[in-house]
Amino acid sequence: MTLSLPSPIEKISFRGEKYLLKRDDLINHDFSGNKARKFHYFLDHDFHDITKVISYGSAQSNAMYSLSVLAKLRGWDFVYHVDHVSGYLKSNPHGNYLYALQNGMQITQDTLPQTFEKSTLFIHEGGRMAEAGYGIQKLADEIKAQCEDECVDIFLPSGTGTTALFLQKYLPFKVYTTPCVGDEVYLKKQFLMLEPDEREHPMILQTHKKYHFGKLYDEFFKIWVELKKETNVEFDLLYDPKGWLCMLENENSFENKILYIHQGGILGNESMIKRYERKIIEKDR
Ligand SMILES: *Cc1c(COP(=O)(O)O)cnc(C)c1O
Repeated sequence: MTLSLPSPIEKISFRGEKYLLKRDDLINHDFSGNKARKFHYFLDHDFHDITKVISYGSAQSNAMYSLSVLAKLRGWDFVYHVDHVSGYLKSNPHGNYLYALQNGMQITQDTLPQTFEKSTLFIHEGGRMAEAGYGIQKLADEIKAQCEDECVDIFLPSGTGTTALFLQKYLPFKVYTTPCVGDEVYLKKQFLMLEPDEREHPMILQTHKKYHFGKLYDEFFKIWVELKKETNVEFDLLYDPKGWLCMLENENSFENKILYIHQGGILGNESMIKRYERKIIEKDR
């Protein structure tokens, strides 16, 4: 598999402001964004004893899809544990779920084992692990080389916070983020698991309104459409709408030009767009 690295940094304007955009969505069709960075370690190193990878999380996750690509490439079995798969998804497989199944993923609702054999690689939900630092350091090195003579503020929306945390560790610039999965307390806890020194944590920004992960919001879809129209870039529908809303709401917190990290996730949009369409149709009835 060839990864197009370094990913380009483009200049975009949105609502009259200029931003820099790191296009990690362009790394590779099957292995892109944030999950490509986090799992890069497993592409570059040899794992002679490994025959199987086990992970868990939601049935539409980007991490799940990327792991299915990795497992297929390396000839590993891939067993993925979920709490449940919605009836709709089961009868109409699409998006990350469909493509991961096509890559040979075995999905199960069995409880996660407590211990693993030596030949099994276990990956926490969303790829929260020390090995993620390897690929994220490469991302940081690219940014340093590309922003040689410019001081920038980095912004990216967080799930587990792994990407934001390692970026702050490896970059001389200030990293800002917003929690999309849990609240600020959850995100701080995630940071602390990977780095006990709080001075090395990214700055957490918030929106006035509280949003719940995976729920549909009119303003999310609206800004996603507007971003696509104005910048010609398709952003992800799970994390980026909250990211952009938060960044715009907190524009006074930034001191330098903002470098926004596009963390991929476009394959996952397929299911999100279907859900938004169904919501819009129901509303118009
Ligand atoms: C996984 C993911 C995130 C969250 O990354 P974390 O390192 O868990 O904070 C953000 N955006 C996209 C598109 C993702 O796939």
